[in-house]
Amino acid sequence: MTPVTVITGGSRGIGAATARRLAHAGHHLALGYRRDHHTADTITAELRATGVRAVAVPADTRDPNQVTALFDAAAQLGPITGLVNNAGITSPIGPFTDLDPDDLRHVVDVNLIGYILCAQQAARRMTHGAAIVNISSAAATLGSPGEYVHYAAVKAATDALTIGLAKELAPHGIRVNAVAPGIIRTDIHALSGQPDRPDRAASRIPLGRPGEPDEVAAAIAWLLSPDASYTTGAILRVGGGL
Ligand code: NAP
Repeated sequence: MTPVTVITGGSRGIGAATARRLAHAGHHLALGYRRDHHTADTITAELRATGVRAVAVPADTRDPNQVTALFDAAAQLGPITGLVNNAGITSPIGPFTDLDPDDLRHVVDVNLIGYILCAQQAARRMTHGAAIVNISSAAATLGSPGEYVHYAAVKAATDALTIGLAKELAPHGIRVNAVAPGIIRTDIHALSGQPDRPDRAASRIPLGRPGEPDEVAAAIAWLLSPDASYTTGAILRVGGGL
């Protein structure tokens, strides 16, 4: 049976790199994204050219109805076997005391509520052998002082979600794991106001450089694969030693 995987935030960054890697492994793919139709359509065409089925679905993960529509579209490709819970945002980098309540709510809504809504749809539809990978962050254990402590706190919640769901879904044969990237070269840093953050951080990363999206995608693909059949409840750090 061909695997069918939903990737939220699949249009750019880590999500897009994961989509490319999974397409080469033969997965049919449903990519969720929020508003950048052009980028989503471009990657979807690229995936189809590899011979798999792929759809791009505008689905804001904060909205339960849009999440349901994303999973309905994925189900048209076949029984859903994988979810990469990836759509995430930060907010402007700065001291905790300057945090705007609207930015706080946005981070919680996308990175926590959105993850839970997607995991719930997945859990309702998946059967034995399926797997969920939640994209956490090294921030969950480092705390991101002076940058975005609230984001780190929400990523720690992702880890708790992973551990709890892994135990709850294990009797159904569904595995749940997390990948916790360090500092990866994507657009997320520009959106938080510091496009050069990966290069500036290089000197404090033990491997001496930021990561590339495909290096995170490799870990995600492994956790979704049968090679990880006995791995559940794991939080796999992909941070160059961070
Ligand atoms: P990115 O390049 O900024 O891409 C974010 C993706 O999420 C885009 O496809 C975007 O779609 C989508 N998205 C944003 N808000 C959404 C919403 N409300 N509903 C649905 N889709 C939404 O981000 P990234 O760096 O690849 O990050 C992916 C994940 O890795 C996030 O969970 C992030 O917290 C985590 N992470 C990243 C790093 C890093 O250094 N990059 C480190 C640790 C953890 P549109 O383009 O349509 O807006």
